[in-house]
Amino acid sequence: MTTTNTFTALVVEREGKELVSSLKQLSVDDLPDEDVLIQVDYSTVNYKEGLGFADRNKIFRIFPIVPGVDLAGTVVESKSVAFKPGDKVVLNGWSVGERYWGGYSQMAKIRSDFLVHLPQGMDTRKAMLIGTAGYTAMLMVMTLEEAGVKPDSGPILVTGATGGVGGNAVAILHKLGYEVTALTRSQEPSVHAYLKKIGAREVACGEEWSKPPAPLEAQKWAGAIDNVGSTVLARILAELNYGGCVAACGLAGGFDLSTTVMPFILRGVSLRGVDSVSCPTPRRIAAWERLVTDISDEALATINTVIPLQDVPRYAGELLAGKITGHLMVDVNA
Ligand code: NDP
Repeated sequence: MTTTNTFTALVVEREGKELVSSLKQLSVDDLPDEDVLIQVDYSTVNYKEGLGFADRNKIFRIFPIVPGVDLAGTVVESKSVAFKPGDKVVLNGWSVGERYWGGYSQMAKIRSDFLVHLPQGMDTRKAMLIGTAGYTAMLMVMTLEEAGVKPDSGPILVTGATGGVGGNAVAILHKLGYEVTALTRSQEPSVHAYLKKIGAREVACGEEWSKPPAPLEAQKWAGAIDNVGSTVLARILAELNYGGCVAACGLAGGFDLSTTVMPFILRGVSLRGVDSVSCPTPRRIAAWERLVTDISDEALATINTVIPLQDVPRYAGELLAGKITGHLMVDVNA
């Protein structure tokens, strides 16, 4: 493919109250006027696209839009001195795929200050097997480390563990030597076997996780990574060890949080929020450099399903419905 040819993109338009998505042939002139032109290799599907294609939470802010919060590819043209043709780059967040055209396209124009060079040892395929899910998981692990949580501190709980962020968090913590307990709603032995294969020592799925906790419960966790929010996050706070920390990024179970001050004032626990979308560039670079080594290729192969561009809307719906185990990578050229 050259830049003079047309290329394929997944375009979402609003027709009355309906969202309509279709593969379209575009030319470079159809792309937004940003300063770096990229030949895209891969993208991903996340919870956010599940919400977007379901027309929930006002994820898609402009129409028409090419969704996709992630992409990895090669710079073709650049008006920025920071990037030159041939550079391998990764993009996550910055409201791309929401307010700006994103990664579900064979070519994309992206603002240079949104881009990060791929670190040595990371190709575009590995970058998108990881995606925003793994990059966010890495930010959460860094957050626990900054709170003083170490591999010998004790068990770490990861919630939403069958999801993209959760699976990557389990795999990263395992690679770093932590003792991981994976929380899932599933009772399926095959799901529990999957979680152990990617690095969980224990799997938790008790019915107490759907019930509000007492202000203080028995202390169980040195740290936790939470993608679920709501009652699950409230229980984590009540079960953290003295001085423990929970890093929270998600709301898969709800955005509410009903808790008390007791874990904070009697056990000195902390709750630290993690945002990947507007995370400053130096911290992004630090996370991507660590991901070269801090997650195993075997775990990434187990966590990921690779899908073609045309299947993105269907898989986004299945992900939102909780029917996907692991992470979805999109091969935009398949
Ligand atoms: P996935 O859908 O891949 O995973 C979410 C997991 O949460 C599911 O696999 C499921 O695990 C669990 N879950 C889903 N619904 C419920 C529910 N109603 N109650 C309890 N658990 C539930 O999503 P992602 O991994 O892509 O994202 C996870 C969360 O993190 C989302 O809320 C997303 O918006 C957020 N996120 C935030 C980021 C940030 O920068 N702050 C960046 C990336 C994601 P199981 O069935 O095993 O229980």
